[in-house]
Amino acid sequence: MNIYITLDYEMFFGDHSGSVEDCFIKPTNDLLAIVNPYNIKLVIFVDVGYLVQLENFKSNFPQLQKDYDKICQQIEYLGNSGHAIELHIHPHWENTIYDGKKWVFDTSQYRLQDFSKAEAYHIITKYYSTLSRISGTTPIAYRAGGWSAQPFSHIKDALADCNVFIDSTTYPNGYYESSNQFYDFKKVPQYKTIYRFESNLVVEESNGRFIEYPISSSKVSPLFFWRFALEKLKKSEQHVSYGKGSAIKKPKKEILRLMTTYSNSVVSIDGYKANFLEKAFKKYIKNTNENAHFVIIGHPKAFTPYSLQKTKAFIANHVKHHNFTTFKKNAL
Ligand SMILES: [Zn+2]
Repeated sequence: MNIYITLDYEMFFGDHSGSVEDCFIKPTNDLLAIVNPYNIKLVIFVDVGYLVQLENFKSNFPQLQKDYDKICQQIEYLGNSGHAIELHIHPHWENTIYDGKKWVFDTSQYRLQDFSKAEAYHIITKYYSTLSRISGTTPIAYRAGGWSAQPFSHIKDALADCNVFIDSTTYPNGYYESSNQFYDFKKVPQYKTIYRFESNLVVEESNGRFIEYPISSSKVSPLFFWRFALEKLKKSEQHVSYGKGSAIKKPKKEILRLMTTYSNSVVSIDGYKANFLEKAFKKYIKNTNENAHFVIIGHPKAFTPYSLQKTKAFIANHVKHHNFTTFKKNAL
């Protein structure tokens, strides 16, 4: 099996964004300490909108200059050490401002599809060149912010013009709809781990120009969310996340759904979710073949001591018999 550890490298988008140190630098370094001894390379989907706004605001705010220097240094280091730096776009940064103390997010245009096609084109190409310049590498893969990449026809020309022909946004059987977010991946079969497509990223087209690597997913029992809520209440040290920010609030209806019915969730190294990494992997081994792709997602801000411990154990268990890799390595 080919295994990808992919990270959405970003801060929180709620009332408190969290600090650069806690959302990016520290958790990423702690994961590097785990993967480096094995020479495993990560796939890092960088939220470029943040970098673009740091560049816009930093000359007026010394704190932002510090944040910018720190984060650029880490991205450059990651790029130089052979980790794959890829494109993650949260376009609501376009409407976000820094008020002198904190980032004030306007999430009314949360998806690229909330902008005109021409505006979306401009955002994608601008973010692509900013990331290339800062990382010193050439991104070849895209992951939409908030899994919201549909309709893909709205953004495909821009990605193609940037030579970005790999997408890793979908996950089998995923579905979500809120006031800002929308995705419907019900058509992505559970164990289809790679396919070509053209204008619709959930419909395979054998001669399409784009390649989809769905994030792996697994069925999650409502009990999991109850246990998760319980752990949160206990506030035990090992379940406290590195990032100390607040996320965009989930609608109550969605929380109720998760806590009462089976749902499909991404395979993740975030917090308590790392608990089902091993179980999900066994299912993929059973239902696919040795050339298949197992794509794990993580957010440094959401790592916990517990989740990194689970990640470490997972790698130690499987590094001998499986191939930890990146989309870039496959493309070479
Ligand atoms: Zn994101």
